[in-house]
Amino acid sequence: MEPLLDVSNVVKSFFGVRALKGVDLVIGRESITGIIGPNGAGKSTLFNVLSGLYPPDAGTVLFDGQNITSWPPERVTSVGMVRSFQIARGFPNLTVMENLMVYGPRQPGEHLLPAVLRPANVRRREQELEEKAYGIAEKLRLAPVLDHRASDISGGQKKLLEIGRALMTDPKLILLDEPMAGINPVLANEIADDIIQINEMEGITFVIVEHDMAMVAKLCDPVIVMAEGRVLTSGSFQEIVDDPMVQEAYMGVSP
Ligand code: ADP
Ligand code: MG
Repeated sequence: MEPLLDVSNVVKSFFGVRALKGVDLVIGRESITGIIGPNGAGKSTLFNVLSGLYPPDAGTVLFDGQNITSWPPERVTSVGMVRSFQIARGFPNLTVMENLMVYGPRQPGEHLLPAVLRPANVRRREQELEEKAYGIAEKLRLAPVLDHRASDISGGQKKLLEIGRALMTDPKLILLDEPMAGINPVLANEIADDIIQINEMEGITFVIVEHDMAMVAKLCDPVIVMAEGRVLTSGSFQEIVDDPMVQEAYMGVSP
């Protein structure tokens, strides 16, 4: 079957610093693929290019059979690829429910209409969005904090809300950049189980950048290793940890 995401020769420089030097990779449908690599390898830059935040200098990004290279983020999201949004940069003063609703697919202009003027079909869509937000909150154990301000929920709940907001967009593929960073191992395990369940039940593909190797081992197959702006190798978790080239990439770069 054709891969969901097919990236070829993606190059991206910042003021002469080559962050991506020609990245080639494919992501299989319904996989949970890990991306690992030393700091500065270009993992976050790759996500920024894929999600439309930065246009690449060269290369192509094919998603679900379409050439989406250099599309802006909203357009990329509308065809089913979304990156998790860090809640700290989102809407900390809105409630958890409002944070979810903001990311539901919307028709242009409809939110500009005052409530009394909204046509019945718009009100119906709002109700559908609300039901969807409830469903997602339930699944991610966020239902008890739906009325809390996003800034007041726990670190683990913020991570879950990031995933919840991505789910609101009806994605085919979710890009998660270090979803376990800064949370305790018990919660990290719960989030990993949520990801596995969403993948199995809904067939959503995940690409996850993660430093915690125990989490990568538990979640990700295959694992892609990046170093110095390129893909070094890929394989099962065991294959890549046994690979001397991978060990050298990690030890050759000072932290
Ligand atoms: P990783 O996520 O693998 O740690 P990054 O993609 O964040 O790596 O960074 C790769 C390289 O690109 C680094 O040298 C970093 O300093 C540089 N870089 C990333 N984003 C920017 C930016 N917006 N402006 C300038 N340099 C950047
Ligand atoms: Mg990064």
